[in-house]
Amino acid sequence: MNLFSEAEINEKTGNIEVICGSMFSGKTEELMRRIKRAEFARQSVIIFKPSVDKRYSETKVVSHDMKAVPCISLTKAEHILEESAAVDVVCIDEAQFFDSELIDICQKLANRGKRVIVAGLDMDFKGEPFGSIPGLLAVADHVTKLHAICVKCGALAQFSHRLTLSKQRIMLGEKELYEPLCRKCFGKALKDSESQKSLTFNE
Ligand SMILES: [Zn+2]
Repeated sequence: MNLFSEAEINEKTGNIEVICGSMFSGKTEELMRRIKRAEFARQSVIIFKPSVDKRYSETKVVSHDMKAVPCISLTKAEHILEESAAVDVVCIDEAQFFDSELIDICQKLANRGKRVIVAGLDMDFKGEPFGSIPGLLAVADHVTKLHAICVKCGALAQFSHRLTLSKQRIMLGEKELYEPLCRKCFGKALKDSESQKSLTFNE
């Protein structure tokens, strides 16, 4: 079915905004800033996050500076449509953990006149495109790519380097598990950990 078939009957124009970047780049803070502005305008806002993320709370989106906004934890993105029928602004945090069905859901919401704001990691710890984010970037009306600061050299950082050798894609954690690195330092760190691995293997 054509995603746009119901768009014509809706007079309000919706859109999709994606806020992406590495860890420690301020994605959740940027999402909070947009939510606050919408709330000042008396728009109704709902926030979803994947329930895989249980770092601090089941019912709040918590940013690194511990500001919190109420939200709904979901295991599957499919429930977003029914849950957000009555609101103006639909926000999805940590969206990389939802699978690609989220892309169609965001398109449907925007076509129904909703403002959709999605925040998430654009790359995993190997520097590869992460989950639903690459597809969302393609269909988005507006894209904001945020950067952290490289802990090695102070340049702008877009990679989230994992400090352990685990290959598991989803590992939740903050400062003790990841560090933001620039392209040059990330490449060097990957090389170093490869040679470290082969050392361990040869022993
Ligand atoms: Zn660097």
